[in-house]
Amino acid sequence: MQDTSNNNNCSVIALLGNPNSGKTTLFNNLTGSHQYVGNWPGVTVEKKEGICRHGEQSAKIVDLPGVYSLTAYSPDEVVARNFILDGNPDIVVNIVDGSSLERHLYLTLQLLEMGAPVVMVLNMMDVVNARKHKIDIKALEKELNVKVVPMSASRNEGTTELKKIICALDDHGVACPTLKINYGRDVESEIKHLLPAIENSVLGKKYPARWIAVKLLERDSEIVGRFQESEGEGAPVLKALAESTLRLEGIYGDEAETLIADARYGFISGLIKDTYSRPYHEAASFTDKLDRVLVNRWAGIPIFIALMFLLFQFVFTASEPLMGGIEQVFEWLGEMASGISPGWLASLISDGIIGGLGAVMVFIPPIFLMFIAIAILEDTGYMARAAFIMDKAMHKLGLHGRSFIPMMLGFGCTIPAVMACRTIDNPRDRITTMLITPFMSCGARLPIYVLFAGAFFSAHQGLVLFSMYLIGIVIAVLFAFIFRKTIQKGESAHFVMELPPYRLPTFKSIFIHTWERGKHFLSRAATVILGAVIIIWVLGSLPWGIEYASQDSVLGIVGSWIAPLLGPAGIGHWAIAVSLITGFVAKEVVVATLGAVLLTGSGLLGDALVAQLGWGPLNAYAFMVFCLLYIPCVATISVIRAESGTWKWAAFTAVYTIAVAWIVSTLIFQIGSLLF
Ligand code: GDP
Ligand code: MG
Repeated sequence: MQDTSNNNNCSVIALLGNPNSGKTTLFNNLTGSHQYVGNWPGVTVEKKEGICRHGEQSAKIVDLPGVYSLTAYSPDEVVARNFILDGNPDIVVNIVDGSSLERHLYLTLQLLEMGAPVVMVLNMMDVVNARKHKIDIKALEKELNVKVVPMSASRNEGTTELKKIICALDDHGVACPTLKINYGRDVESEIKHLLPAIENSVLGKKYPARWIAVKLLERDSEIVGRFQESEGEGAPVLKALAESTLRLEGIYGDEAETLIADARYGFISGLIKDTYSRPYHEAASFTDKLDRVLVNRWAGIPIFIALMFLLFQFVFTASEPLMGGIEQVFEWLGEMASGISPGWLASLISDGIIGGLGAVMVFIPPIFLMFIAIAILEDTGYMARAAFIMDKAMHKLGLHGRSFIPMMLGFGCTIPAVMACRTIDNPRDRITTMLITPFMSCGARLPIYVLFAGAFFSAHQGLVLFSMYLIGIVIAVLFAFIFRKTIQKGESAHFVMELPPYRLPTFKSIFIHTWERGKHFLSRAATVILGAVIIIWVLGSLPWGIEYASQDSVLGIVGSWIAPLLGPAGIGHWAIAVSLITGFVAKEVVVATLGAVLLTGSGLLGDALVAQLGWGPLNAYAFMVFCLLYIPCVATISVIRAESGTWKWAAFTAVYTIAVAWIVSTLIFQIGSLLF
């Protein structure tokens, strides 16, 4: 075999593609008669090399075995993968069959995840054109961050274009940022669990650590084997892997193995949806057909809004009887406690703890139902569709859909939502998303809506509830737009929105995902909210001797002092002012405070509100909007500080959200007063 080893002025180009992608045809077009055939060392896999010339320049072409993936199941795959990892090719030319792009992209993704310097050849363009299919090459290049060369290898079309790229290559090579696929909450958290141990190992310093983590979770025998061989430093990695595997199987059972492949297919579906168009009548799979409707350019958003509306209606209707039951239990407990002596203790237990805590606990049913609904939407794959649909809409505002995922998570709790902003690489997009996520109505705000909608809007509770979520989304999008035009000006990065296959969720995964969010609410009730309730009781009982929680108490005095500021919004009642201040601890505390302050003796809090506030529906609505928009809880503010790395954005969030809440609720009340 002739020596064609790498010399100074000759770059090495690896040719990789699925069988029948046209690799041999391209290889012949590039190299002509300059070919050398041998074997890869140690295996009976054929090795072909050749020289490609373009004018004065030349490059060495190495033809890798035709493979469907780089999982290291077969000797072919091992040869191809090791050459890409260790052979230091200057470019990997990935040839894909454009007429079955979806299938061929699976290999491309794996290459890009390895951080290989890829140039993509989009072959069989003659077939694509004959079928009247269209591929948006610019979009494909932008979303994958690679150079794409359209080609018809059998007609020798596109060869010169490719030769120019590979032969004109000088020292800087092709820049190709490593592709980061979003594998979903559970897998991502295991990747994070594995990374520290991997980064400490020799292998982790040689190859991209994230790629190794994904390979380990896929149980790639070769990579696992390498860690098993290096006992000393391999042990922590394997230990972490065992823990991760156990956790994932705990949630997904047998399906855990398919999670990673599903995420890749989801990425590809999203990419295809953005870049590939075929005549309408050619619908294919079940997922395709369903997506034709759910991800439709015109119907997508109305369907999304309708689904959300039905969901809130369901949450409200289904939880009503359950809430009634819990309400009765606490009422009964309150009556029992009011008999205790001395009198102050009876007041602490019945007015303070039972009144305040009970007011919050009543909302366990709607909160859990809401979390179940979110888990179902996530696990079926619809949530990703929602983000996909919104991506299109948000692009029109100069944003992108990646930001919509944290926003959707914000329906559960703002804290994990702010943390999810980490997946957004562009710092401007990340900060912007962090700043607007608090407008997404979290579970803790639900009790406030349910309480006030129930008390003041007997007929249209579902609609009122739904409108709160909608106002939150609209304000969030509006401010994202404003920020991207002002304090966070700059280009928005391009991302592929995943479209994972639809699947029937398992009870187990729904249960675990619901519980993950719900337990947070329960533990807050037992700690933060209980503590707040006791402090409120103390402040409501001082100075000594006054009537509990009257306007003469410390609470009443502070509330009366602040209340006038809230007058323009129609919510200038001292008890409301107090509840908004204490709501900074956690939004559930708004309700707990009202329960502790306004509910003296037994009865229903809703009735007490109507009797004592002297409000109409408009006041109540303005208050709900204020609660939706004003400063997120103290935990969120501290997470924004941690995630943005500076107090600046945390303080900014606190101030601007209060201003927005005041302005919007005042507008609603003032305009509403004119109309009704
Ligand atoms: P390999 O298996 O990847 O090496 O693919 P080959 O180069 O052997 O090609 C497989 C088949 O596809 C052959 O019949 C080629 O003639 C055909 N082919 C290659 N490129 C093109 C193309 O651009 N258009 C069309 N229509 N056929 C092609
Ligand atoms: Mg071949």
